[in-house]
Amino acid sequence: MNTARLQQLDVAHVWHPFTPMQEYAREATPVIAAGDGFYLWDTDGRRYLDGVSSLWCNIHGHWVPEIDAAIRAQLELIAHSTLLGLGNIPSIELAHALVQRAPPGLNRVFYSDDGSTAVEAALKLAWQFHRQKSAEGSQRDIFIGLSGAYHGDTVGAVSVGGIDRFHAAYRGMLFPTMQIPAPVTYRTPPDHTAVSYLQFCFDELERVFREWGSRIAGLVIEPLVQAAAGMLVHPSGYLRRARELTAKHGALLIADEVAVGFGRTGTLFACEQEQVAPDLLCLSKGLTGGYMPLAATLATEEVYAEFLGEPADHRTFYHGHTYTGNPLACATALASLHLFEKNKLLENVARCEAVLKEKLQGLANHPHVGEVRQKGIIVGIELVRDRVTKEPFADDLRLGHKITLAARERGVLIRPIGDVIEIFPAPAMPPELVGKLCDVVFEAIDATLAAIKT
Ligand SMILES: *Cc1c(COP(=O)(O)O)cnc(C)c1O
Repeated sequence: MNTARLQQLDVAHVWHPFTPMQEYAREATPVIAAGDGFYLWDTDGRRYLDGVSSLWCNIHGHWVPEIDAAIRAQLELIAHSTLLGLGNIPSIELAHALVQRAPPGLNRVFYSDDGSTAVEAALKLAWQFHRQKSAEGSQRDIFIGLSGAYHGDTVGAVSVGGIDRFHAAYRGMLFPTMQIPAPVTYRTPPDHTAVSYLQFCFDELERVFREWGSRIAGLVIEPLVQAAAGMLVHPSGYLRRARELTAKHGALLIADEVAVGFGRTGTLFACEQEQVAPDLLCLSKGLTGGYMPLAATLATEEVYAEFLGEPADHRTFYHGHTYTGNPLACATALASLHLFEKNKLLENVARCEAVLKEKLQGLANHPHVGEVRQKGIIVGIELVRDRVTKEPFADDLRLGHKITLAARERGVLIRPIGDVIEIFPAPAMPPELVGKLCDVVFEAIDATLAAIKT
């Protein structure tokens, strides 16, 4: 099929996620045909640098020989068998490999298919854990999330979410949760300074536990960076404090490392940077190197123990998905994990982090850059109409989207979060390419702003 025909059928039949389809249908969007390394090719043979790791999941690039070989080898054996009451080789080997690398104490691996289901499983595990642990546990009916939080799109994950644009439409179908303010200072209330506001956020964290401690089932948090919220970077010590308070009050700490895991923040897992071991750890996106859907919710022995008993006791976790522990996906993940060590990926991340830091300094005095946020190789550039008042650009201007189109014309694929431009390279991207990625993105920002003003 030629490009025009593919685009016609795409618009006729494919409903794209998080995509305003009326606008999409007007724009002749490239159709990806192939990938190699850090580039994607469309059906017309145009090449694009993958600037957001194919939506935050790609790790080693595309068409990676070692991963492809692992998939082929597994395919020679079996593509899928069920994990319900039955084992398979890759799911066992991967669980072992994950436990060896995860923060201490997380010895049990519950598989599912994507980030949302990893969080969904964690919420249900926490709920059931408390009820099976003690009679008082049934009082623990509150989950705490942060403002601006994003943990996926299933109903439980949305219930602990806090992004109005995505979540407001569903408020009526969600279960109630409590929200505490995210510890970030770009837009503080008028009666606060940055310092006093951060203190307020730490105080609020303390207060909910002081007032509601015995009712809290769990606190759900993205360690260090709230990605979908616009790459909001937390101050050091916040995660640590959340760990102390959850432990003190008998609540579970649920760390959602779906976006920040697998090297993006500079360590394999973000929790490591605050010496935190959560009770439940949600992993997905980068788990298979960005090749296949797979997720894991890791749990401590303490959580796991409450699900043991004779079958007739019905302490079982009655939850799972058809493709849970899929052998092809697990074999892929195992190959990806081994490449972290073989290719010394975290050293590359450190080099890329330095390149990004230096390049981003070039935006320091940009009249429309409100804030530049960076943690490891995660970057968010918030564009505003007025740098002093922080007044945003009008929504209907679609500035972030226009910048995406301008970058695409220049051979780079990115995706904005509103007017926050993100740079989210694969951890294995060579530093020179990361530099080039920045140059093109900055150019796309300036060209788009110039076009708006004329
Ligand atoms: C993407 C994401 C999810 C949801 O993962 P899906 O695979 O899209 O369901 C959950 N949590 C975080 C932090 C994410 O970035």
